[in-house]
Amino acid sequence: MHIPRKRFGQHFLVEPRVIARIVEAVEPRPGERVVEIGPGHGALTAPLLERAGHLTVVEIDRDLAAALRARYPEEQLAVHCADALRFDFGALGAGLRLVGNLPYNVSTPLLFHLERFASQVRDMHFMLQKEVVDRMAAGAGTAHYGRLSVALQYRFRIERLFDVAPHAFKPAPQVHSAFVRLVPHPCLPHPARSEALFRKMVTAAFSQRRKMLRNALGAFLKEADWAALGIDPRLRPEMLGVDAFVAAANFVAERWD
Ligand code: SAM
Repeated sequence: MHIPRKRFGQHFLVEPRVIARIVEAVEPRPGERVVEIGPGHGALTAPLLERAGHLTVVEIDRDLAAALRARYPEEQLAVHCADALRFDFGALGAGLRLVGNLPYNVSTPLLFHLERFASQVRDMHFMLQKEVVDRMAAGAGTAHYGRLSVALQYRFRIERLFDVAPHAFKPAPQVHSAFVRLVPHPCLPHPARSEALFRKMVTAAFSQRRKMLRNALGAFLKEADWAALGIDPRLRPEMLGVDAFVAAANFVAERWD
């Protein structure tokens, strides 16, 4: 018997209706490149595999990965026993459909890691702690808006699909969950000239979110720059939309060009 490992955020889905809703939302079809992160005992793996015909999974727990290898032939299930936080999803090709009931203890760094592969992703469907989904989907000026919201909304359309209560999992987590869909924008609505600089400025802004923009981003923009940008430098970073962050980063990038 497998004893759930807390350090791997193991809360296994046991509610058939929730599993069915997830598979319905993903709608996998034969021939698609479906990749499941953290398959665990295979609660989602089995129905996804049934519909897609083939599946790739990334599981950190050696025992669980071995059990999946023993259960399914290689032609059906490609099992990578690896840490998804370091896994090169880009090596799996393009048109990827990422799915997972993610380990909540690493979900934020995992989302930042996955964001880098957006150009090879068709869509992503994840179960996450409700509070993380609130942060992902938050609009500027709201309590949950921050670095995660800006980084993900820059690249994806985010659709919150449904909430899930703790009793759908075993062991039950202490938090509520939500299932969310992320679809890369076909064309970036506000492209950054330098994405590295954009990331740097967003990180700097939200590491000092109680400060005014003029202080939080003082290393990048001077007082006159804010006037040229038409942004009030007394605002706090959480008041700035994705478009305004990109405009500020592009202003700095232009000066560097
Ligand atoms: N998909 C299963 C289900 O819904 O019942 C298990 C979900 S459980 C919340 C998270 C799974 O992710 C576990 O199987 C855990 O071992 C795995 N996991 C945790 N950290 C991981 C990591 N860094 N990389 C890959 N898998 C990880």
